[in-house]
Amino acid sequence: MARVALVTGGTRGIGEAISLTLKENGYNVAANYAGNDQAAEEFTKRTGIPAYKFDVGDFAACEEGVKNITADLGPIEVLVNNAGITRDTTINRMDPQQWEDVIRTNLTSCFNLSRLVIEHMREVGFGRIINIGSINGQAGQYGQVNYAAAKSGIHGFTKALAQEGAGKGITVNAIAPGYIDTDMVRAVPENVLEKIIARIPVKRLGKPEEIADGVLFLAKDASGFITGSTLSINGGQHMY
Ligand code: NDP
Repeated sequence: MARVALVTGGTRGIGEAISLTLKENGYNVAANYAGNDQAAEEFTKRTGIPAYKFDVGDFAACEEGVKNITADLGPIEVLVNNAGITRDTTINRMDPQQWEDVIRTNLTSCFNLSRLVIEHMREVGFGRIINIGSINGQAGQYGQVNYAAAKSGIHGFTKALAQEGAGKGITVNAIAPGYIDTDMVRAVPENVLEKIIARIPVKRLGKPEEIADGVLFLAKDASGFITGSTLSINGGQHMY
């Protein structure tokens, strides 16, 4: 039986590439999204992958979403916590809502969904949780105290949960993408983007498929000895 995989924010950008790569490699994929119905409908038409609308920052909404996915496809054994947003500005201009929105969508979401799938994973003695962090959670970034805090929180969350899952066949890993060519990065002003690309040793943005390949590797049954790690896929921009 194909393993069921949930990809949050799985209808656009990096998430879309992850959903597709997992499907092409035999997983039974559910893609989640927040509110862009048109993009989700086009995604489902293009890929045949069902899309489920719920807010990953809201525990009750996640509970309902996981219930629906489980009823339609079966219990989730691969969880990719990919949904994320930015609300960039320096701290002197940042309002509490911008802080809160970014923390709940990027970080609280990892708790919400892991909490909801972990019991089944513990019962069957198998699970894969892959959290999408960021280079900016590792290195920090001007104008992103909210985002950097959330993403760096993901890296700590990953290492703690990895320890809890290790004896139960559940691996928990993170991927820290560098700058990837998606809507999120296209929203960065052109002159700023040029400066960013100049600082990437491979001299280009990453492709969503390059992150998806990393997810596939970590999701495999054969990757059971890799847990608590962070895979940096960033064109050499940040080495540590
Ligand atoms: P996009 O903005 O292209 O896509 C975001 C996806 O997340 C959409 O499907 C969106 O749904 C969904 N989403 C947003 N908020 C919520 C929510 N509250 N509940 C459910 N779904 C939600 O993002 P990217 O593909 O660029 O980024 C994907 C992940 O990778 C993020 O976590 C991001 O922080 C991380 N990342 C991205 C980098 C990049 O260079 N692009 C670099 C490093 C990390 P909808 O379509 O309905 O809006």
